[in-house]
Amino acid sequence: MTANYNQPVDAAMTPRFGDIPTFMRLPHTRDPSGVDIALIGVPWDGGTTNRAGARHGPREIRNQSSFMRRVHHVSRLAPYELAQVADLGDCPVNPIDLMDTLARVERFYEKVHAAGAIPLSAGGDHLVTLPIMRAIARDRPLGMVHFDAHSDTNDRYFGENRFTHGTPFRRAVEEGLLDPERTVQIGIRGSIYYPDDMAFAEESGMRAIYMEDFVEMGPEAVVAEARRVVGDGPTYISFDVDGLDPVYAPGTGTPEIGGMTTREAQQVVRGLRGLDLVGGDVVEVAPPFDPSGNTALVGATFMFEILCLLAEAVARGRDPS
Ligand code: MN
Ligand code: MN
Repeated sequence: MTANYNQPVDAAMTPRFGDIPTFMRLPHTRDPSGVDIALIGVPWDGGTTNRAGARHGPREIRNQSSFMRRVHHVSRLAPYELAQVADLGDCPVNPIDLMDTLARVERFYEKVHAAGAIPLSAGGDHLVTLPIMRAIARDRPLGMVHFDAHSDTNDRYFGENRFTHGTPFRRAVEEGLLDPERTVQIGIRGSIYYPDDMAFAEESGMRAIYMEDFVEMGPEAVVAEARRVVGDGPTYISFDVDGLDPVYAPGTGTPEIGGMTTREAQQVVRGLRGLDLVGGDVVEVAPPFDPSGNTALVGATFMFEILCLLAEAVARGRDPS
C-alpha cells in the first residue's frame, strides 16, 4: 500500500447496490486541492443535433460505476494505489443557455487545472470537450486519441451556430487547443452530409482511421498508428460511446452501425499505456435510450480503463524512474 489515497467504499462491507453512487464509489469533494485525478460529470446535452438525453449521462454512469473493482485484470494497474482520485461532482451548466454553459464549464475546469488535478469527465454530449480543452490546453496544444463514429469537425449547424457536438474539434484546432497533426480519430463511419465532410480533418492533418481501415488493420496496428500520431507530447483521450457498435452501446444520440466491439476498443485503450496523458472523457451516453443500463455500464468501464492509464501517468510523473 502506498500513501493514504482515497479508496472506494469496501464492497465486502457495503454491497455495491447500496449507499450513494459516486464515481467508482470514491469520496465526493468539491475541493480539487490534493487531488491527482478529478472525476467530473458534465450534465449537458444542449449541443446535441439529433436525439437529446446525454445530460442524464453522469448520474447513470455513476450508478453503473458501482460495478468497477479496484484492479485492472490485464495490466494489474491499481489506480487507487497510484494516485489520489476523487469525485468532484457535476460541473455547473445552464440547460437553457449554450454560451453560458461553455463559460461555466471552462471556469470550473480552470480551477481543477490550476489545482494540478487531471480531469476525467463523464458527458454530456461531445461539445463539452471544447470548454474542457479551453481550460487545460491554453498553454500548449494537445494531441488527442479520439474514439468516435464521427469526426466532429463540421463547421456550422442550423444557420450560423458554430457550437454543437458536431463541431468541437474544428473549434479546438482554430483556437489553438488541439494539434491536428497529433490527432487520431478511430472508428469513423456512417453516412455524411456532403462528400467533402472530412475535408477539414484531412486538410488540417488529422489521421482518420475509418472503421473499414480498423477492420483491415486490426486493433494492434491501430494502437501502433495511434501512438505514432500522438508521439510523446501531452495527449487527451476522448471516448464517444457511439464509436462502439450500437449493439454494445445503443444508449446514445447518434448511433451508427458497423462499429467497434467493446473488446476491440478495450484493446486499443489498453495499448495507450505510457503516453503523456493529461486528461480524458467518456461522452454521449444517453440514458433515455438505454433501458438496460448497459451503455452506462460501458461508459463507466471505459472511464475505469482510462483512469488506470491516467493513474499510471500520475505515478510516473511523480517518480520518473
Ligand atoms: Mn463525438
Ligand atoms: Mn459520435
